[in-house]
Amino acid sequence: MAFVLDPAIRKIPKAELHVHIEGTVTPDMARRLAQKNNVSLDPSIFSADGSRYQWKDFFHLVTSVYDSMAQSIRTKQDYEDITYDYLTRCAAEGSIYEEMIAWGSQGDAVGLSYPDLIEGMAAGIDRAQRDTGIIGRINTALVRHQPFAKVTQEAQTIAAFPHPYIVGLDIAGGEQPGDIPKYQPLFDMIYAGFGRKPGMRLHAGEAAGPQNVRDALSLNPRPTRIGHGVRSIEDPLLVADLAANGTVLEVCPTSNVLANIYGSYADHPLRKLMGAGVKICLNSDDPGLFGDSIGEVYQVARDHFGFSDAELLTATKTAVAASFAEDAVKKTLLDKIRQYESGFFKPARTQGPGLRPAP
Ligand SMILES: [Zn+2]
Repeated sequence: MAFVLDPAIRKIPKAELHVHIEGTVTPDMARRLAQKNNVSLDPSIFSADGSRYQWKDFFHLVTSVYDSMAQSIRTKQDYEDITYDYLTRCAAEGSIYEEMIAWGSQGDAVGLSYPDLIEGMAAGIDRAQRDTGIIGRINTALVRHQPFAKVTQEAQTIAAFPHPYIVGLDIAGGEQPGDIPKYQPLFDMIYAGFGRKPGMRLHAGEAAGPQNVRDALSLNPRPTRIGHGVRSIEDPLLVADLAANGTVLEVCPTSNVLANIYGSYADHPLRKLMGAGVKICLNSDDPGLFGDSIGEVYQVARDHFGFSDAELLTATKTAVAASFAEDAVKKTLLDKIRQYESGFFKPARTQGPGLRPAP
């Protein structure tokens, strides 16, 4: 049954820190772009009726299916359009802020330069903000399931283009235990190229266990956020460390269940982590691939994890505080949250391409 966003959830302001830009592309959008760009997509990535993506297991999803789908996105204009499409859909669901992950090497795979990819996203961010008020920023990721020489090349490309909307750095892709410390020199190179230190967050503790989170936290400076990090629950001392340091876990409950990291919401440790004092925010990860949305994630948190409205708003406040956006942006976001608390916040009604009319 198609998801319907409850109006009571829609009116709560949301902020998301963990979403991959190519992963926002719906099957329809991928086919539309593929047709425009004269690209034939591997038909096995779609379900028989074409309405959703399909995958064999987690690694197959984050490597093969993701990469095949992303072949449809080829130009600077495409990146502007998918960014605008995603942000306006989020704004209509009550999101006020989206920090999106760009993969440094994705452009290489389709013959698009990295500056064009980032500038395309930046144009989509500006257009969506003009039309709906939503604010977007970018985290750039090194992709770890590649040869180290290729990742090094990717880091050089990132270091040479410090766009002001790039507010954070990340490691993403197929998680391998023990692989994080070797990336420290690459991050140091990026810091030098930027002449500033963007925020640091890493994917860890999703497919691999708590040691990967410990490895992530050993980087200098220590990351203030962990992408997923849910498998930290397997190590009580690590959980205590996260709580004591206020490290925020970007939890993606729908993604974790759909990618079969956990068999069901009942098995998911979100509540246990919160109970141990760990700060969390709520995220969709790859909403186009998974067929969900940030609104659906908030609704799942209420319906399957028993979040009250106050707890949903706390997740938003945690995301705003932990975001890597500049102070002026954070102030604007906090003003919107205060508007909600005084009964004056209204989600955007402007529709983007392909968007159903807002209720
Ligand atoms: Zn992710």
